[in-house]
Amino acid sequence: MLNEITGLELMLQIVIVGAPNVGKSTLFNRLVRKKIALVDDQPGVTRDFREAKARLNQIDFQLVDTAGYDLSEKNSLNERSNSISRSVIENASLCLFVIDARVGISSLDLTFADLLRKLSKNIIVIANKCEGSLSDAGFYEAFSIGFGTPLAISAEHGTGLESLAEAIENYEVQLKSLEKKHHDFEILTEDLSDKTTSLGDRLVLRQKNKEFIQIAVVGRPNAGKSTLINKIIGIERLLTGPEVGITRDSISVDCIWGENEFRIFDTAGMRKPARVTKRLEKISVADTLKAIKFAEVVILLLDSNMPFEVQDLRIANLSEREGRALVIVLNKWDLQDKKHRKLKDLQIKLTNSLPQISGVKMVPVSGLVGSGLDKLRTAIIQTYDIWNTRISTAILNQWLLSRVHTHPPPIITGRRIKLRYITQIKTRPPTFLVFSSRADSVPESYKRFLINGLRSQFNLPGVPIRMVFKAGRNPYAN
Ligand code: GDP
Repeated sequence: MLNEITGLELMLQIVIVGAPNVGKSTLFNRLVRKKIALVDDQPGVTRDFREAKARLNQIDFQLVDTAGYDLSEKNSLNERSNSISRSVIENASLCLFVIDARVGISSLDLTFADLLRKLSKNIIVIANKCEGSLSDAGFYEAFSIGFGTPLAISAEHGTGLESLAEAIENYEVQLKSLEKKHHDFEILTEDLSDKTTSLGDRLVLRQKNKEFIQIAVVGRPNAGKSTLINKIIGIERLLTGPEVGITRDSISVDCIWGENEFRIFDTAGMRKPARVTKRLEKISVADTLKAIKFAEVVILLLDSNMPFEVQDLRIANLSEREGRALVIVLNKWDLQDKKHRKLKDLQIKLTNSLPQISGVKMVPVSGLVGSGLDKLRTAIIQTYDIWNTRISTAILNQWLLSRVHTHPPPIITGRRIKLRYITQIKTRPPTFLVFSSRADSVPESYKRFLINGLRSQFNLPGVPIRMVFKAGRNPYAN
């Protein structure tokens, strides 16, 4: 489905859920028309979810087949797969809850129903295997779960799909009205698209979140980068030996630091013992940029004896420009007296120096002594999570409405700019698309006003926020 005005593709996301062996994968294959999911008569064969574009009566949608929850199993692999399934369900627009009509409602179905009630607002019950009279009783039983009229379908034989198409179509019509609160479309654009916006990749992000966070320590020479990295790696378990990186002179090391795993970018020589004499007093911009590009969270190390010099701010701006999450570290804190006072002063200095990424976390540490490292780790993780934030379209638009109401956009050449619709098109960093009249004329100051509003309303400190204006109407207006 392409919007004529914007050319944007609006993709409904539908997830198939149900107990093992009810026919989820068969339904998936039927709708996708390619054999992507594994089908087997053995319960629990589908171990993980699969995702594909599907089409039914001219409606295109993204379809996900979840792993069968086997709630009796409690091993960690299963827990992981369960938590992935949960987030798939939470993120989907619509949930197809499949039961086996020949068996009727089982206790496992009831467990699923309870779970779905918590995770999803939009559920269609599919009474599958309705190809013969054997399924009648089960079909009627399916009314009792309380998700409305079930649809009698045979995924195997392809019957009953019209009713499913109709249900999805109805749902889609509802969705198009913004007043309906429960919608969750994704908008994917050609030019702005980032793979992270598709459901599948979003999950990869979540898994990545569990694997490791990529960090790079940057700063002027002598700020104490190698000392700090050595400290972190020294006290913590090194997962692997140094790996030769993308370029000859860079490596990354994986380590467990506290509860989390980190991949630390390292330029050549960084982890060598601190050099006695410093020949190189100039910062290598190329090295710094390389490190920033590698990192998800950039750790900008300042020497607290001479913080916020021009070069420090230049690096912070570079990190912002590259869209990275940023944490500022005040190193050599062991040398400071009047620590409390000093920190207050530096907070003010930070606010004034980096208004474009307001709320950046600043952590005093001593790389030499090893103090403040727990706070640093917490700050990194919090900032990383903020960088990955996704805000639902419905909530964003409620916010936009009230913003525009209290502070209307400016009048440019006699006509007021109209902001019609907002949606988040990307995370890492959070990126928003606003549909407006005369998108080119929205002044920088009003854009900043909106970004600051988003930042405080949705608690997004310390990460870059992008906002793109595009000409067009609300794609969901009738
Ligand atoms: P790099 O150039 O940023 O990698 O800096 P180094 O790690 O080589 O450190 C430069 C100098 O600062 C060395 O003499 C370190 O011993 C010293 N240094 C690093 N961190 C600290 C710290 O937290 N406290 C103090 N007092 N000295 C530090």
